[in-house]
Amino acid sequence: MTQSKPVIVIGAGPVGLCLALALAQQNVAVTIVEQLSDADFLDQVPRAGSNHPSTLEMFDRIGLYEKLVPRGIIAPKFLYWDRQTFAVIAEFDHKFLADDTKFPFVLQCERIKIIEEALAMAKQHPLISVRMASEFVDFEQRAESVSAKVENAAGEIETIEGSYLVACEGARSIARKNCGIEFEGFTYPERTLNIEVAYDFTRHGFTERNYISDPVEYSNLFHWKGPPERWRIHFPTDPDEDEHKLTTPEHLQGRLKGFLDIGRDFEICGCNLYAVHQRVAKTFRSGRVILAGDSAHVNSPIGGMGLNSGVHDAFNLAEKLVRVLRGEAADSVLDRYDRQRRQIAVKHTQAQTIRNKRLLEERDPAVRKRNHDELRRSAEDPVLARKFLLRASLLESLKEAEAIA
Ligand SMILES: Cc1cc2nc3c(=O)[nH]c(=O)nc-3n(C[C@H](O)[C@H](O)[C@H](O)COP(=O)(O)OP(=O)(O)OC[C@H]3O[C@@H](n4cnc5c(N)ncnc54)[C@H](O)[C@@H]3O)c2cc1C
Repeated sequence: MTQSKPVIVIGAGPVGLCLALALAQQNVAVTIVEQLSDADFLDQVPRAGSNHPSTLEMFDRIGLYEKLVPRGIIAPKFLYWDRQTFAVIAEFDHKFLADDTKFPFVLQCERIKIIEEALAMAKQHPLISVRMASEFVDFEQRAESVSAKVENAAGEIETIEGSYLVACEGARSIARKNCGIEFEGFTYPERTLNIEVAYDFTRHGFTERNYISDPVEYSNLFHWKGPPERWRIHFPTDPDEDEHKLTTPEHLQGRLKGFLDIGRDFEICGCNLYAVHQRVAKTFRSGRVILAGDSAHVNSPIGGMGLNSGVHDAFNLAEKLVRVLRGEAADSVLDRYDRQRRQIAVKHTQAQTIRNKRLLEERDPAVRKRNHDELRRSAEDPVLARKFLLRASLLESLKEAEAIA
């Protein structure tokens, strides 16, 4: 089955590409519209990359998992640390999920590698047309179809006709704004500073994924496969501090040495500063225009849930769009996508990422102690550890979504 008009997917990020592949593999024609050109595409900052078991299962379904494994690091464990004493509070091991998933681990593989591999797959698929260097600017929808207005590399406006338009163009979604959909939530006053370093932190007991609690300067430390081999550390920043000052080599070295003094300068490979938002679109659907991924919801990266939950949107939506376009389900099934994924974004992803940040930055010594004791208890008891990991790996959120009518 191929319908006459393709599904238009705006944005060749991880969500748009997974959606396009999942649709095309079910014989649905897709047009992907991406503003970046082929020449610029791989110049993006690496960004996310902790891919949870639930997401690995989805990558596997479209043949993407096997392309990512050689480019990533398999991380079965993660650690919570107390920076005040530099002691491990708790070690969580995904082995407790061995009966729940084919992939009882996280794959550390950055967004840039995911989109490189997925774009190559999309370009090879006969049912996917990829329009690079094409900026989506507006849309028009009618009862039976939708058209996207796109500015091409020559500055001309083209119109692309489609059956549905899925906005996967990230947090600044034009489709969301043009539909007048509110992006409800808040932005933290402090920005997060990311520093990438070439240094082997395992010699100090760190593992591939580390969450470090501290009332003054909490952080996260993650390992990424090379070449060049890198570790990324996140620090909060003072909201009033000058942006330029925060990224000078002296400031970066100071932050790193304050965290861990190795008796010399760190080899810094890069840094960036970003604002952290906790927002969810008021609705994920406006007729034939549907939001997915960061265009629908954004959250703090603590816990690695943004990309993962966006990919979950893509697979949930693909399954429904296929049935609608085959004439096997009414268009109203797409409202269930909105109910399921929006509720999960609010009750699960937002709630958990806000809690994750609070846990790491807690200042009250009594509450800190209580939190740490609870983490320790959870990690040591196989039943509690499995419960904790089902939530952290988003497997539980998929079950919750299924229960939403
Ligand atoms: C530092 C950092 C670390 C993170 N770590 C994690 C993590 O460990 N795990 C996790 O799950 N999430 C993480 N995230 C979040 C994650 O990166 C995002 O949730 C994810 O990339 C969203 O995917 P997306 O496809 O919805 O949008 P994006 O990845 O933003 O992709 C959007 C695409 O649309 C294109 N586009 C934008 N506007 C237009 C337009 N007008 N016309 C055409 N194309 C357009 C863009 O060029 C881009 O290719 C992190 C984020 C940051 C900033």
